[in-house]
Formats: sequence, structure tokens, C-alpha cells
Amino acid sequence: MRIRAAIARAREPFELAEVELDEPRVGEVAVAVEACGICSTDLSAKDHDFGTPLPAVLGHEGVGRITAVGEGVRGLEVGQRVVMSFGACGRCPNCREGAPGYCERGADYNLLGRRLDGTSPIRRGGEAITGHFFGQSSFATHAVAAATNVVPVADDLPAVHLCPLACGVQTGAGAMLHVLEVGPVDAVGVFGCGTVGLAAVMAAKIAGCASIVAVDRRPERLELARALGATHAIDGAELDGAALVRALRELGGLTRAFDNTGSTAVIEAAFAGLRPRGVLALAGVSPRRARITLDANRLMLSGRSVRGTVEGDAHPRSFIPQMIDWYTRGLLPVERLVTTYPFEQINQAAADMAAGRVIKPVLRMT
Ligand SMILES: [Zn+2]
Ligand SMILES: [Zn+2]
Repeated sequence: MRIRAAIARAREPFELAEVELDEPRVGEVAVAVEACGICSTDLSAKDHDFGTPLPAVLGHEGVGRITAVGEGVRGLEVGQRVVMSFGACGRCPNCREGAPGYCERGADYNLLGRRLDGTSPIRRGGEAITGHFFGQSSFATHAVAAATNVVPVADDLPAVHLCPLACGVQTGAGAMLHVLEVGPVDAVGVFGCGTVGLAAVMAAKIAGCASIVAVDRRPERLELARALGATHAIDGAELDGAALVRALRELGGLTRAFDNTGSTAVIEAAFAGLRPRGVLALAGVSPRRARITLDANRLMLSGRSVRGTVEGDAHPRSFIPQMIDWYTRGLLPVERLVTTYPFEQINQAAADMAAGRVIKPVLRMT
């Protein structure tokens, strides 16, 4: 079928164009996209040589309604509303152990944007373009998604608030609850207060953490972090690494820390600000070949640990319904992060996001 999609080329504006989309194959569904969030990974894939073959149709926080179901798909039907999250094969050891974020074929689906057989469902003028980014490519009016990465959702919730649950909010809330396993005794630090960090603040509040320290360089984001549950805010704009460590120690240090800035200086400061047995989780994208330096004896003697996480170690089929429950009860106020744009304004939305003018831009296709 003919659809309208935003074509991404490196360091050029998105181009809205007509392309051809295949029917869903075995194990896939077709979805009429209602809305799709923009995540920093989309902009990295477009402009920062992330390995995604360009031109591509990006977008990996899509919400829409199933219009066709491919062979072999069980439990999904035409007309059902779904959130499209990240892709995973469902068969490798990590998928079988409930860790689809570490799927052995995850790079194919998610960053390389192709089916496991190497094909793409999107063509333009007969030429294939990358069209299965995160198993969906939802910067388009329609998507063909892997059935394994769609999660059925209720009809009556605003699509624009459900989109961020697919990636950004899932990553931050999941990191807090699944990776750092925070609870009432914890003093947690959240480094970077975009969508991922603010979702982490909300999750830390849900978990009842004793203190929640938000760190960012933008006063208005720190203000929002406080409104969402942060008990302390540190403006990092004026601080070098050593001053940031001092500020963390003055607050008594952290039992759990979560970096989503990807800045090596911030990661090193977050590590130094941990109390003994503290844990630091990393979810930010760092520059290529970035290296962090940790004091080896301090790591060993103090029993600290550092680990990476993608998608908050979440299993979308169970975690997205859990997050929706919190959202409907007012505990996960995703709406406070969202700014909506008509699909045609994708370049404005991306520019506003890159400049920090908005936190989570969401495109409306309908
Ligand atoms: Zn897998
Ligand atoms: Zn993302």
C-alpha cells in the first residue's frame, strides 16, 4: 500500500514522502499509526552514524490500530490498539530468560532496522529503504511491526501519552525498578532530566525512596523533577566533576545512581558519589569509543558496582500494562513530559528536542 513516511538522511531535514509498504508477513502485523514519540535514539540514528543504514524511516514509539495480521500471529486481531515497543526474536537464550532487551538479534531489528531475513517492508520507487527500525519504523502513517514487539492497550487512553511508554519512560522507570531495584531505604541520584531521567524520578517516588537527587544543567528541568518527586536538585551547569562529587557527598552520598547523560565526566562523578555497596546503572549513549576511568581499589573495597542497561531491562508485555496502571492512577504523569506536533511538523519537533525546548515531542499522524 501507499503510505506517507518521514525519510531520514544524515544531517538533512526529514523529507515527508509517499512510499510503498508491504503487507505483513509471517509473525507481523500492519498498524495504522495514530502517534509516535521522538526519542534521542532516532536523532542519533539520523545524524550520528549509529550504524542504521540510511535513508531510513525511523520512529520507535508508535501507537496505533492493527489493520492486518500476518500468518502465525496469535492473540492479536484487526482493530486492536497497540503500543509498539522494541523488537526481539523471542527465541534466543536472553529472550527465553525474559531479557528481550539483550536479544542476540536485537541489533538487526532495532538499530539496523531490518527483518531477521535482511529485508525491509518499505520501498520507494522500487528501491528498498530501511523500514523496520526497532521492528516498526513508525514515523509514518502506517507500519509493519513484528508481532513480538506490540502490546495491546485500551481504546480510551490518549495515544500521545502512551507513546513514551514504548521506549523513553520504559527505560527510566525500568532502570530504577528492575535494575537498581530501589526501595524506601535508598538515596538515589538521577543524572540527566530528560524523558528517561524524569521517568526514573517518577519511578523512584513510586518506590518510596528516602531521597531522590536530580542533576541537570537546565533549571526548568530541575524544577519539573522536584514537582515529580525529587527531594533535592543539583544544577550541574556550573560544576566540574569534583564539585559535583562534593555536592553529592554533602547530601550523604547515594545508594543507587542512574546516568542517562552518557557524559563520561558525569558517569565518573556519579560513581564517586556512591556510598559503599552502591550501584550505578548506565543508560545514556556516550560518544563513540568513549572510555570511563574508575578507581579500581575503590570499586573493589567498597563493594560498588556499575552496569549498563537498555530499555530498563523491561519485558514490554508486562511492564507497559503496569506503567499504564500507574499512569491512570496519576502516579506516572507522562503527560507532563509531552509536547504534541502534527506529523508534518517533524522537523520543528526534532529541532525543539535537540535544543532542549521540549522534553518529549510526540507526532500526531491522525
Ligand atoms: Zn532474542
Ligand atoms: Zn528510544
